[in-house]
Amino acid sequence: MKSYRELTIEDILNEKKSYTKLSLETIEQVDKSINAFITVNKDVEDLPGKFSGIPIAIKDNIVTKGLKTTCASKLLENYVPPYDATVVKKIKEAGFSIVGKTNLDEFAMGTGTEYSAFFTTKNPWDLTRVAGGSSGGSAAAVASGQVVAALGSDTGGSIRQPAAFCGVIGFKPTYGLVSRYGLVAFASSLDQIGPITKTTKDAATLMEIISGYDPFDATTVDKKIDFSKYLDESFSGAKVAFPKEIFGEGIEEGVAKQFEEFIKFLETKGIKVTKVEFPEIKYSVATYYIIAPAEVSSNLSRFDGIRYGKRVEKGGLLETYLETRKENLGKEVIRRIMIGTFTLSAAYYDAYFEKAQKVRRKITKRLEELLDEYDFLITPTSPITAFKIGEIKDPLVYYLMDIFTIPANLAGIPAISIPFGFVNNLPVGMQIMGKRFDDAKVLGIASYIEKDVPVVLPFKEEKK
Ligand code: GLN
Repeated sequence: MKSYRELTIEDILNEKKSYTKLSLETIEQVDKSINAFITVNKDVEDLPGKFSGIPIAIKDNIVTKGLKTTCASKLLENYVPPYDATVVKKIKEAGFSIVGKTNLDEFAMGTGTEYSAFFTTKNPWDLTRVAGGSSGGSAAAVASGQVVAALGSDTGGSIRQPAAFCGVIGFKPTYGLVSRYGLVAFASSLDQIGPITKTTKDAATLMEIISGYDPFDATTVDKKIDFSKYLDESFSGAKVAFPKEIFGEGIEEGVAKQFEEFIKFLETKGIKVTKVEFPEIKYSVATYYIIAPAEVSSNLSRFDGIRYGKRVEKGGLLETYLETRKENLGKEVIRRIMIGTFTLSAAYYDAYFEKAQKVRRKITKRLEELLDEYDFLITPTSPITAFKIGEIKDPLVYYLMDIFTIPANLAGIPAISIPFGFVNNLPVGMQIMGKRFDDAKVLGIASYIEKDVPVVLPFKEEKK
């Protein structure tokens, strides 16, 4: 029999028993070494619904009524939202128990939760390494079996990269399928909420629950997708492409080798894999790091020391505003606000922001062309495996790591990270991207692969 820490949503649905208490006890024991949670919802009660008693964690940039939502920022350290995000409302209506809020890089800006104002989450595979980011807490909570599943947010890879680093499944849906209402905005044209799970079936189940048109988010689309439709289908005969550029500078040798193994594996499964050219990929990091900060400088202006969170009173309103931000925002958030403010300023708008928008359209166009010709595009999720906590000092080194995940955000297309083997005992994730609204097919091919390569969990527990 499986222990609690291995259970999936599907397992528990068949059991019809509450695991809420067991989850809280597991968090109490396990999270001492992982640090996945900022807030544990000790008073959580079982709710009615099909998924009653199934423990889930929510990234701490998604608002929960009456439960602290900090964005891992000092500024919102004591912020208790008066409402639920749409996804949270839906999760509760389905019956899930929200047992806690997970760590992230401050306001989701980062790649290893090292920019959390509170602490760094540790990788369950190696406690000296990061769990990835920004949804590192969610991925580590799932991989360490503290919760059955979790929600994260993905602006430039923040669901997929931590899922890859922790060896679990992370899915970023097509932009517009999941409401962003109640997700604290980072870069609104890129942000999307999605699931982190132990199986593709669980990811599809969560997508059924959290997706859908929402009058509170004008970018949501009214489209009914059956996310489970292709879960048991064969994808033999599918056409897959990979950009030749991924073997360029920056990719770890072990990851490159593992990717070649992945291609071979797909071929044994009857999938046709073709090498293609995607030269634009090299501009994706620069494009993203202009567009995202520009949106940050606008979105974060609401944290002005008047409306939300902490306020540092000093002189007049302007001084109070500046002091509140200086005292309470971390260096990476400030860096992005400054870059964004600079690139949007009248003198530089054409040179940076407008140019980045043009390149974004070019990258999107090329991705669309490729996906017209092929069913899916594949890359490693990250060019490297989980790095040591404190190892990276230069922000540019972090930024460059997002090279494979950013294009899907720029183009708004669905992308999943699935585990595929190990390099030096650390999990490696592979990314599969699909056409806009082909989310069910992306989950489908991932599930086809999963039949041979399931998620492996890092803990070895005595079987009960
Ligand atoms: N690592 C990227 C960044 O720092 C992506 C973050 C995200 O997807 N939230 O912006």
